[in-house]
Amino acid sequence: MYKRNYRLALPTLLFIASSLTVPAQDKTFAWPEGKQMALSLTFDDGRYSQVEGGTALLDEFGTKATFYVVPSAVEQRLEGWKKAVASGHEIGNHSLNHPCSGNFPWARQKALENYTTKQMKEELAEANKRIQQLLGVNAKHFAYPCGQKFVGRGKDTKSYVPIVAELFQSGRGWLDEGPNDPQFCDPAQLTGMESDGKDFDEILVLINQAKTNHQWLVLAGHEMAENGNQTTRLSMLRQLLAYAKDPANGIWIAPVGDVVKYLGQKQPANK
Ligand SMILES: [Zn+2]
Repeated sequence: MYKRNYRLALPTLLFIASSLTVPAQDKTFAWPEGKQMALSLTFDDGRYSQVEGGTALLDEFGTKATFYVVPSAVEQRLEGWKKAVASGHEIGNHSLNHPCSGNFPWARQKALENYTTKQMKEELAEANKRIQQLLGVNAKHFAYPCGQKFVGRGKDTKSYVPIVAELFQSGRGWLDEGPNDPQFCDPAQLTGMESDGKDFDEILVLINQAKTNHQWLVLAGHEMAENGNQTTRLSMLRQLLAYAKDPANGIWIAPVGDVVKYLGQKQPANK
C-alpha cells in the first residue's frame, strides 16, 4: 500500500517542483522601471522607404529603432541616413553583399554555399568600415542576411555565428518563432520575429506572449510603407508606437544596443 502511494506521488512531486522553479526564475529578471517586457523595432537592408517615411513616424513618437544596413543602399539615400543617425536611430551591419543561400535566384552569385568563413569575416569588417566612412558610426550589432548563419555545404558547412560574436555585440536572426529569454539568450543569435504584413492585432499577440514570460521581443521588418511585399505597414506601426509608449502597457521600447547593454549588466556570464 505504501509503495503504491509513493508511485502515484512521484509525478505529482516532480510537477510541483518544476512549476515552482520556472516562474520563480522568470520573476528574478527585472526590466527597467518595472516594465514587463522589452521591445525592439528593427528594419533591414537600408531600404529607401525607411528614411522616406519610416524614420519620420518613429521620430514623431520619439522612438529609436535599429536599422541594419547594407552600405551600398545607404549611399543611395545618404542624406536621409545621416538624418536618421542625427535623430538617434541605431545603425547596425547587414553585410556588404547580402549573401544568402543560392536557392534564391538573386543570391546565386553570392551564395553562402560558396562562401568561406575567412571571406565572411573580411566582408563584415569591410561593411563596418564603409558604414563608418558614410555615417561616422561604429556598427556594433549585426543582422544575418536572410537569417542564415552558415557558409559552405555538406560536411564542410560552418557556422558563422562565432565570427559575428567576435566582431559584434549581437547578431539577429529572421523569421524566428519566439521572443528572446533575457536570462538565457545568446546575443550572437537573437531571435527576430517578422513585423512585415502584420496588422496590429497580430503584433499584439506577440506582445502579450512576451509580456507573460517577461521576454524581449525583437520585431524585424523591411519596407516601411502602406502597401507592397515585405512591408511593415506605417498604420500598424502608428498603433504599435502609441500602445508601446503608454506606460500602462508595461513595455520598454528600446534599440537592440540598449537592451544588449542592459542584459550585459544583468545576465550572469556564460549562462
Ligand atoms: Zn536583408
